[in-house]
Amino acid sequence: MVIHGGAGTIDPATLTPELEKQYHAGLARALEAGYRILKGGGSSLDAVEAAVCVLEDDSLFNAGRGSVFTSDGHNEMDASIMDGSTRKAGAVASVRNLKNPIKAARLVLERTSHVLLVGRGATDFARDEGLEFEDSSYFATQRRWEELEKTKEEEKERGRHGSLAFPHTHLGTVGAVAVDTHGNLAAATSTGGLTNKHWGRVGDSPIIGAGTYADNETCAVSCTGTGELFIRGSYAHELSVLMKYRRMRVDDAAKHIIHDELVDLGGKDTGGLIAMDRQGRFAMEFNTRGMYRGYIGDDGVPHTFMYQEP
Ligand code: ASP
Repeated sequence: MVIHGGAGTIDPATLTPELEKQYHAGLARALEAGYRILKGGGSSLDAVEAAVCVLEDDSLFNAGRGSVFTSDGHNEMDASIMDGSTRKAGAVASVRNLKNPIKAARLVLERTSHVLLVGRGATDFARDEGLEFEDSSYFATQRRWEELEKTKEEEKERGRHGSLAFPHTHLGTVGAVAVDTHGNLAAATSTGGLTNKHWGRVGDSPIIGAGTYADNETCAVSCTGTGELFIRGSYAHELSVLMKYRRMRVDDAAKHIIHDELVDLGGKDTGGLIAMDRQGRFAMEFNTRGMYRGYIGDDGVPHTFMYQEP
């Protein structure tokens, strides 16, 4: 299993050793949660959901608790999940106060004939399914509030509205890809989106084919970065297509997407992705200064990273 905790400007100068340790520990906890399921013969779909839940509950990451703020000071979240064996998918977008958006995405996949529910419809659905909700104070963190104020200041100076200016420095979107003992692939992604986004703005994370994709024939993918670019490039699906028709390896296809396709679209320094094929070969590719990420293999030892590695 491979996970990410978002790509962006991770500056070693601003991260204390204590905070660095907490990031590594958070990533390791998520990997272990997924690994336990895979090791016990469970499905990759359960494993990616479990790993993403752990990251949603960790306020360090921009998903669930710790989500970034919209321009009007709310936390609005998006999430999606896809099963590579059936290519069934579920997603929710623009939900507020839902503790684990990824659980709602999974239930959309399983209990409805739809793929994507948004806003009040998604919230009503999650409530009917008995999912947990929390007060706004649960999601709000001081650090994200300060980020909102700083971003507003910067964007005022630039004279632009919304968080569409590149490169963006906000990060923390979470995702997981896994293959299980039956050879089935799955992918999941969850996010609070971009700091200072307009309310109602939806990024790539809940869009199947943009931020998330899984197909047993090719790979499972979860993306992070400036969502508008990932939607325009349909990069999660594009990666699968490169493997399917061009017969590219997962690592070569991932490199091509992040360093060629994304950059050609104006996305230098804007994102990354994780991807895995059925044989467990994987990629963790990004064109930003860093990406929180990690993998766990048969030995059950989590390996976690933040910056560019040699
Ligand atoms: N891709 C997410 C979005 O645009 C944000 C991120 O990955 O940092 O909503």
